[in-house]
Amino acid sequence: MILLKIVIQGLTDDRYERPLSLISDLFFEETEVSFTENKLNEADLVVTFTIMEEAESFIVKGELNNYTASHEKDLAHSIEKERFKRKKQAVSYVYLTLLQEYTGIIQKWGILTGIRPTKLLHSKLHNGEAKEKVHQQLREDYLITDEKIALMQEIVERQLSVVPDLYELGKEVSIYIGIPFCPTKCAYCTFPAYAINGKQGKVDSFLGGLHHEIKEIGTWLKEKGIKITTVYYGGGTPTSITAQEMDMLYEEMYQAFPDMDQVREVTVEAGRPDTITPEKLEVLKKWNIDRISINPQSYTQETLKAIGRHHTVEETIDKFHLAREFGMNNINMDLIIGLPGEGVEEFDHTLKETEKLMPESLTVHTLSFKRASEMTQNKRKYKVADRNEISKMMDMATEWTREHDYVPYYLYRQKNILGNLENVGYSLPGQDSIYNIMIMEEKQTIIGLGCGASSKFVHPSTGKITRFANPKDPKSYNDGFLHYTEEKIRILDELFFGEVVEK
Ligand code: SF4
Repeated sequence: MILLKIVIQGLTDDRYERPLSLISDLFFEETEVSFTENKLNEADLVVTFTIMEEAESFIVKGELNNYTASHEKDLAHSIEKERFKRKKQAVSYVYLTLLQEYTGIIQKWGILTGIRPTKLLHSKLHNGEAKEKVHQQLREDYLITDEKIALMQEIVERQLSVVPDLYELGKEVSIYIGIPFCPTKCAYCTFPAYAINGKQGKVDSFLGGLHHEIKEIGTWLKEKGIKITTVYYGGGTPTSITAQEMDMLYEEMYQAFPDMDQVREVTVEAGRPDTITPEKLEVLKKWNIDRISINPQSYTQETLKAIGRHHTVEETIDKFHLAREFGMNNINMDLIIGLPGEGVEEFDHTLKETEKLMPESLTVHTLSFKRASEMTQNKRKYKVADRNEISKMMDMATEWTREHDYVPYYLYRQKNILGNLENVGYSLPGQDSIYNIMIMEEKQTIIGLGCGASSKFVHPSTGKITRFANPKDPKSYNDGFLHYTEEKIRILDELFFGEVVEK
């Protein structure tokens, strides 16, 4: 891997460091961005900025080799915080323009490096700004391409048609339940996923803690009269525990949580086909689980082997049909673009196989090299497609879903994602996952229970977000679940009722 050293001159405020580092990472595999002249003699690239500030406006100019770029902004009527935000945006604009010219790579998301692009559009439209004006801003200030602006707009409209009361749902909560076990660990995975074989002792005590959390949080919600919008079981693979354990867990959920008949959606990820059995499908049906995921990722056997998914392509297809036989009529399937050794041909095959099954929803991920995954740590071992081929596959997914009547309904981006693209959730009309919309748009609190479950507390009136994470490994969870439950209840009291409960 080549490390590219970039020296930035002319900016003294260290608040520029993070945005410029993030932008550098969009263009090069690994970068080191320094703001100190001492490093000038080691630099591969030197970018020089000049900021000329007047009372009412400023101009940012940048130079990189023979390229120059500038951006002018109005500062009238802005307070100090706002003034810096505008300057930071202009510096990012100039930096991105220079790197685009230098590398010849166009970043379709412009200077937007955040995870949730649609959240920005939602907030501007919700503030009453006109659609055309907002689009113009996204194009001119953020350098986002028309293609991506159209995608954002389509998704925002779709979400509001599926959840018309999206902006009012801050008074309710959703629940995420994390089950940290899987049959084996996949190479690209950074989720809490512990190989389940031979770990029954750990599973038993984990489930003991989880039952406790469900009971306590359910009691609090009932007492306070707070409704649940959606429940989502993720992990790990929630179907890696036994049918009997699943049955007891859902029974606990129905007993503990308020008004389960009014919950809009309950999803259980049955991601790994090798965990699905007729007995477990029977349990899911018994408890009216609306939505499950069965994740092929790819329909090429060698790829599954290379990424450590110890199941066959046939198994995915068979388990899909089995789930249908048991009446599962809202099945999501995850696909990944850019898995090792895969290009246009393999992805085309994956789409052809998908066509035979037509799941209600399809989540198309682009492979991301997350720091802690086995794949990233042994990057040399895995050969992945280049930027152009990744982009071609993404276009194939867009075209294919459109031709087959799927609509995009949520999207998110990740760091180190191949080609700086995005993950998009598509669904057939009326089959969109409400939980996915809630987690992406951050309009309500999501209470995380179980291992690795991160709670996101969204203040019902200010929208301010605070986070609180349960431990990732079962041992720490088993040792500390009483504390983690109490702490969440304390935060919830404060969030919804302004009560500070003594610890
Ligand atoms: S099935 Fe999912 S959670 Fe489990 S190891 Fe693979 S990627 Fe991770």
